[in-house]
Amino acid sequence: MIPVETYRGRRIALFGLGGSGMATAKALVAGGADVTLWDDSPAAIEKARVAGLHAADLRELDWKSVSALVLSPGVPLTHPEPHWSVKLAHAFSVPVIGDVDLFFRERARRAPDSIVVCITGTNGKSTTTALVAHLLREAGFDAQMGGNIGTPVLELAPPEANAPRRVHVLEVSSYQIDLAPTISPTIGIHLNLSPDHIDRHGSFDHYAAVKERMIAPSQIAIVGIDDPASEAIAMRHARAGGRTVTISVVAKHGASIHAAGRVITNNQGETLADLAGIGSLRGSHNGQNAAAALAACLQLSVPRDIIRKGLATFPGLAHRMEQIGRVGRALVINDSKATNADSTGKALLAFEDGLFWICGGKAKAGGIADLAPLFPRVAKAYLIGDAAGSFAKTLGPAVPHVLSGTLEAAVKQAAEDANRSFFAEPVILLSPSCASFDQFPNFEVRGLVFRDLVSALPGFRPL
Ligand code: ADP
Repeated sequence: MIPVETYRGRRIALFGLGGSGMATAKALVAGGADVTLWDDSPAAIEKARVAGLHAADLRELDWKSVSALVLSPGVPLTHPEPHWSVKLAHAFSVPVIGDVDLFFRERARRAPDSIVVCITGTNGKSTTTALVAHLLREAGFDAQMGGNIGTPVLELAPPEANAPRRVHVLEVSSYQIDLAPTISPTIGIHLNLSPDHIDRHGSFDHYAAVKERMIAPSQIAIVGIDDPASEAIAMRHARAGGRTVTISVVAKHGASIHAAGRVITNNQGETLADLAGIGSLRGSHNGQNAAAALAACLQLSVPRDIIRKGLATFPGLAHRMEQIGRVGRALVINDSKATNADSTGKALLAFEDGLFWICGGKAKAGGIADLAPLFPRVAKAYLIGDAAGSFAKTLGPAVPHVLSGTLEAAVKQAAEDANRSFFAEPVILLSPSCASFDQFPNFEVRGLVFRDLVSALPGFRPL
């Protein structure tokens, strides 16, 4: 844990106890702050009280005495409208910040030169964060990984001047950046931008501007420049004199690092790494993630051969194109995190043919219509959940499919069909293109159930 001493003896209001909220409250209390916390959920308040924290309705607080409102990133700051606690803070000119900001304030106090790598972008944040941490660990660093992935940032070991091998590797969402005015990474990685979360940011321009607030103060910026908004962010960083490494998957002229195909090269055409055969980094999107992680490691002077070995041993993340094992000849992939057509498109692109594709659930707007150009890769589709009927219509007679209904039935049918097929290495792919809520509490449980069902099949071999 990182005790937050910046607010010792001062009063802090904290709203939002889900996720990182409790860890933040404990870190503030450990650092000597006087914390009053609240949540809209009585169960969360009760949990905080049981943990010995001081819970009271923030509407009744004397806001003139409050030094900061610490907000959970899940609570609206600006759009669709500021949460009532934010309105109260604004009325009394109280700054509104989050746990990432507290981390950077502590780092400034304790070890301002310690290395912090922050990763953001619309897609690929978790994969890139996990990969950077993995590569750095392989190189002997004490990589402290957290933030928007896994461990809340204030539960990590603190930045220490006398721990030179300690590096913080933080996944940072746009909501967290919005609450982190003092964010100042050693290396800031921004992968890409596409319209997402616009409901919470008001407009695409505002969303892009928030992402830039992490890159602008970075000593070294590593930016994917394949979309125009990200390219503009990289150009502004470079023009302002900031060290800037640019990444392109689509052979954009002038990029510092290219990941076209499976080979990652620098701008002299030198091969830096080859991703061929690395199952956890399939697909061109992972080329972008791997190139960004590799670039960060090169900036930290990690030798190329260690990076290459580390890429090959990256286990990947659960539920994102995760290789579960083999059933007979078939490779089984769990991509339960793919809750929309865009993500599933990435998965289908990673295999040329022989796909036995399990999809369905609670459909998103537009369904799977955009995936039509990839349908020829699908040997057969197994449709589950609410979306089964509408997906069947989209697939039409050209794509063999069956209304499986449940994941259990789909797994059984796909395993039989795949092993009866003529493909040398058929692939059973769960990539639902749908939310899970009609049949499962969340995508993680859906992925775990899939794993259990596959593991119980005769002839299953884990990878
Ligand atoms: P995030 O943490 O940003 O949600 P993840 O690493 O968890 O991203 O990946 C989630 C999904 O996003 C993946 O299953 C894949 O479909 C897609 N994805 C991953 N990396 C990229 C990328 N660099 N560009 C576009 N899409 C990506």
